[in-house]
Amino acid sequence: MLVDTHTHLYPWSLDGVQTVGELLKTAGQKNLSGVCITDHYDFDSVTADGRHWTFDPAEYRKMNEPFRKRPSKLAKGEAPGLLVGIEIGFLRHRVPEIHELARRKEFDQVILSLHEYRGIDPVVDTKNLFDDPLPVVYGRLLGEMADAMAEFPEAAICGHYDFFSRYAPVARPKMCYDHAPEAFDRLFSVLIAGSQSLEINTGTVAYLHERFGYSLEDSMPDPAILKRYLQMGGRILTLASDGHNTADDCRYFKETLDFLKAQGVKELYWMEERSWYSASPF
Ligand SMILES: [Zn+2]
Ligand SMILES: [Zn+2]
Repeated sequence: MLVDTHTHLYPWSLDGVQTVGELLKTAGQKNLSGVCITDHYDFDSVTADGRHWTFDPAEYRKMNEPFRKRPSKLAKGEAPGLLVGIEIGFLRHRVPEIHELARRKEFDQVILSLHEYRGIDPVVDTKNLFDDPLPVVYGRLLGEMADAMAEFPEAAICGHYDFFSRYAPVARPKMCYDHAPEAFDRLFSVLIAGSQSLEINTGTVAYLHERFGYSLEDSMPDPAILKRYLQMGGRILTLASDGHNTADDCRYFKETLDFLKAQGVKELYWMEERSWYSASPF
């Protein structure tokens, strides 16, 4: 069994292009057991034409309820299940509101992500974000993520730990364990203590391979990161396409599964009604 734990839809995510029907159809073609929709909720983010990166959780659940089906309850050969989640952008000055949102009963699962660092958006301002050498910047970002995950035990998944590497203004931005071993260790300790997941996001794989020219093999997460996480006792790993359209759903899943298997990963996880489930996807 395999569940993609991180996907986006139109119109709930402003950058989502696919409908829930299209996502489920693609998931079926790729033989997934299910997908979790995790649309963007970023407090304070507003587009130039005044649209907010937020939505009403009750409405979201209600509209997607007809499609919701727990992967663990599927009969053999049945079409993929659907779970309802959310991807919340962490902001230090929004902690109370994020707690309120992340604890809402509508969500099977909550992803907490860092989409900006203390007011700096990597998409528009790489200069101020990457004003120090990569190891310093990556250490800072991992520290921020560890703080965020410790603050929000109700968030099950640490979204794309390597998100900022997609925007680093260098030729070889891939985030490696040796960039910031202490910061990685601290993040892993927090995740392990809180039964939270280290997300493997194939969106970053795509960025490294397609935009930075890494070979597909080199675009995979640094094996040292997986090795250390497992060595410290980390077991919970989720696989995420972060697909916003049908072309990106399940992107590089086959190659990433081969890679994870080679690193000694035995099972992948997903969440239903706030409880972890796991199965071998191999
Ligand atoms: Zn994200
Ligand atoms: Zn996302």
